Amino acid sequence: LRFRLKLAAALLSFLCSYSAVAQSNTIPPDRLNKYSDLAVQWLQEYLRVDTTNPPGNEAQAAAFFKKILDEEGIENQVFEFDPAHHRANILARLHGSGAKRPLILLNHMDVVTSDASRWAVPPFSGQILNGAIYGRGAQDMKAEGLAQLVVMVMLKREKIALDRDVIFLGTSDEEVDGSGTDWVITNKRDLLGDPEYLLTEGGYNLLEKNKVKYVALDVAEKATFWLRVKARGKPGHGSEPLVDSAPDRLVRALAKIINYQSELKLTPVVEEYLRVMAPYQTPERARIYRNIRALIKDPAFRAHLKSDELNPKLRNTISLTRLSGSPQTNVIPGEATANLDVRLLPGEDPQVFLAELNRLIADSNVTIEPESPIKDFRIANSSPTDSELYGVIRKVAGKYFPGTPVVPSLTSGYTENQRYRSLGIVSYGFSPYAATEEESTTEHGDNERIRVEEVRRGPRILYDVVVGISAAH
Ligand SMILES: [Zn+2]
Repeated sequence: LRFRLKLAAALLSFLCSYSAVAQSNTIPPDRLNKYSDLAVQWLQEYLRVDTTNPPGNEAQAAAFFKKILDEEGIENQVFEFDPAHHRANILARLHGSGAKRPLILLNHMDVVTSDASRWAVPPFSGQILNGAIYGRGAQDMKAEGLAQLVVMVMLKREKIALDRDVIFLGTSDEEVDGSGTDWVITNKRDLLGDPEYLLTEGGYNLLEKNKVKYVALDVAEKATFWLRVKARGKPGHGSEPLVDSAPDRLVRALAKIINYQSELKLTPVVEEYLRVMAPYQTPERARIYRNIRALIKDPAFRAHLKSDELNPKLRNTISLTRLSGSPQTNVIPGEATANLDVRLLPGEDPQVFLAELNRLIADSNVTIEPESPIKDFRIANSSPTDSELYGVIRKVAGKYFPGTPVVPSLTSGYTENQRYRSLGIVSYGFSPYAATEEESTTEHGDNERIRVEEVRRGPRILYDVVVGISAAH
């Protein structure tokens, strides 16, 4: 009896997990194709909406979404928080039973600037060329926003009963100041309720030789902490060297900084990333990935690490990027400066790091200051990888890309995940699309595009994830 009960329980849990990933299979093929057709048509239209930021003009994008949401009978509201500059956010909602806390599908509607003279087709044409849809935002992140819209439409038309509210949130100004999300968090947090999960841009699914090599979920980021180093000294004539000139002091301080070995720290995200990726490495690399805990204490490994691609994942990093002194070769300036691009690991306190650098330099004529007020610094954060949503994404990825590892990643770039994680929401960067390395570099570059077949499939993948985490069983 005991054995049978166990077997029944195992079978039941298998069926439950199976039904959670099989959802789009239950939609008849002709209807699924219709959704894919809509995704292609709508993405072309959406890419024609010019939301270049600056200035943004995202109200046009909000109007584009609103028209479709209204036609589909999906509750939505546009918030023109800066009407003079046509800046708006849009929030749409499908109601669940309330048994679980909401899921937010977040997308920013603005795009970066583009130089049309360098493109094969105009950046706001939405034209299809050689099987790909071209347009500024095709990778970052209008195609993903569009997939989120199609998923809302699919949930509505398929009459999916939900355990939680599914909220579609389109924001302005992610690429410049983040004023859209600032406005939502300051003024409309009550409308979000108490969300459990959020999905937005940031993940990356690398396509190599027609196979998806990995599905990477952004679960953490590093925080930017830009510093200015300033040295002071007596000015003078270049013909009479001064031993303690500002440039000499600066160079001595910078020598200490570039030789500095910041502490190695193994965060849980990076440890899991290395564990999951180890089997896909060469034997020598796999040994490093598997033994990282011991290796970070090994002086030989530490010495070599600075030139290894794993370096930024394991420590706070410093890049010396700008230098300035005298405008004239024969003038010893009274002041010389350098700028450092510092990236801090999740949880790191900028004050502590700054104090560490000051101790290292130990020169009262050399100061280090943040480029922007330290009160504006946002501590990098992370979301756990043992959540129900992470498990659902892994199952869905297994259905579409069998045998492909799902890995958590620590990004060095900024996404809005940072803002929403700090509200206690488990937030992931997840893309329903795969891209070759070349395609992904068109993000912020020329000829930004996405293959039509990805646009047709992406919404199904995202639909399966959203149904898996939100549908009532
Ligand atoms: Zn983006």
